[in-house]
Amino acid sequence: MGRSPFNTLKRRRLSLGLAAGAVFTILLHIRSITVPRPISAPTYAPEDPKGRSFVQTRYREDAGAIARLLAAWPEDKPRAAIFVLARNQEAMGVVQSLKELEATFNGNVSAMYPYVIVNNGDFSPSFMQVVERSVAGRCFFGKVPQEHWSYPAHVSAEAAAKARAQQAAANVFHGELESYHFMCRYFSGFFMHHPLLRGFDYYWRVEPSVHFYCHLQQDPFLTMQSKQAAYGWNIVRLELMSTIPSLWSTVFQFLRDNATLLHPNNGLASVAPGFSRVSVTDLRVTEHTVPYTGCHYWSNFEIGSLAFFRSEAYQAFFAALERSGGFFYERWGDAPVHSLAALALLDARAAIHFFDDIGYRHDDAMHCPQAPDAVRHCSCMPAVDFNQHQSYCKSLQRQAGLLGQ
Ligand code: GDP
Ligand code: MN
Repeated sequence: MGRSPFNTLKRRRLSLGLAAGAVFTILLHIRSITVPRPISAPTYAPEDPKGRSFVQTRYREDAGAIARLLAAWPEDKPRAAIFVLARNQEAMGVVQSLKELEATFNGNVSAMYPYVIVNNGDFSPSFMQVVERSVAGRCFFGKVPQEHWSYPAHVSAEAAAKARAQQAAANVFHGELESYHFMCRYFSGFFMHHPLLRGFDYYWRVEPSVHFYCHLQQDPFLTMQSKQAAYGWNIVRLELMSTIPSLWSTVFQFLRDNATLLHPNNGLASVAPGFSRVSVTDLRVTEHTVPYTGCHYWSNFEIGSLAFFRSEAYQAFFAALERSGGFFYERWGDAPVHSLAALALLDARAAIHFFDDIGYRHDDAMHCPQAPDAVRHCSCMPAVDFNQHQSYCKSLQRQAGLLGQ
């Protein structure tokens, strides 16, 4: 059968049409695969000066942008920021924590508190891009000043290394990690001075890879502000005492030397039973007469007043601890440091707030609200609230009237 020229033409048109259709479909398909578009962060070798200047420029821009944000801050909104210390390899942990925080609170248009994200090293361009593209709130990135992540003049690097080797031999948790000592010292004495936090009154500390379970019915910063609270917590537990052999005696000596700084309504009895009945200036009383249980607020969750941590009283407290060298010769955590300071220097019942409504988990410990009306807003098991160690510390908080009931 011969083909007519007409048919051949038709067939050619048909196959051309089919081919065009196929190409179009493939293109559509590729488009749908590439949406959302992949992160196109510039990739720089670690030592590439262009990379360094890209990051430095970003830090500078963020410092300016945050100042402008604060200049236009609404009158009635607490000046608060979400504060994150993280390393480049924790990018996805940061994203996950912040997304859960947004789903439960910070994604509300009335909240949308900015994220201040800092690192002792430099963030990589891809860290900054993936974090900022994944969250709705504004991100500001910065670097921890070198002098805030190092040794004080009176502690030599050699002596610290020797102490770390001893801590490693004694199995002191994370005692061998120089970076961990710097991190604890940073949160104890320096984070409140970070230039990006200048102009803020409150912070909420968030770590990578933590979980938030409850839709908040109240803005925690407003709670802090209206209550004039200075310290907010939601997990209390025992410290590993091998990390803080001389912390309590150092704190005790500080309080003896500065008895006027000890608040008349302090809450130390909630972690050192009997403390309220003694006078620190009575020399018959020692750190052994009213021993420290090791109970402390777990500071990976923390909502606090920057004015408190910047106050002369807190800074004097930190300076005394720093002088003793315990951040290096031992492995003092910022959690017992913050807790003892808050409990000693504040009117505890008025200024320390238990955030029962914030369901939260960090590694092996979590808090889930128990009240039926709170559970309705949460996705955690109320029974999985605290372990034995936590329940002992929590009962002391209850006895001291620090659970807010
Ligand atoms: P843990 O919670 O006590 O087990 O300690 P983490 O390893 O979670 O550290 C506590 C916080 O400090 C987290 O936000 C970490 O991302 C951060 N962090 C710890 N070490 C370093 C460090 O060397 N550099 C930086 N930039 N962040 C750190
Ligand atoms: Mn952690």
